[in-house]
Amino acid sequence: MNLTELLPVEYSCPWCGEPNETLIDPTGGDRQDYVEDCAACCRPSTISVRIDGGGVPTVVVEPES
Ligand SMILES: [Zn+2]
Repeated sequence: MNLTELLPVEYSCPWCGEPNETLIDPTGGDRQDYVEDCAACCRPSTISVRIDGGGVPTVVVEPES
């Protein structure tokens, strides 16, 4: 596994439920939080990324108020 590659992770928009894809940079640290706009409804969501010791990302998505 090449750790310099971006990891595509799918999530459902908390606003409209449409599937979105975000690219996680594994070299950016094991805790990353950023805001992304939905590709379908353009409303912002907070993406919280946690990467465990094995390099497996977990993504929690919440609507940005
Ligand atoms: Zn949406």
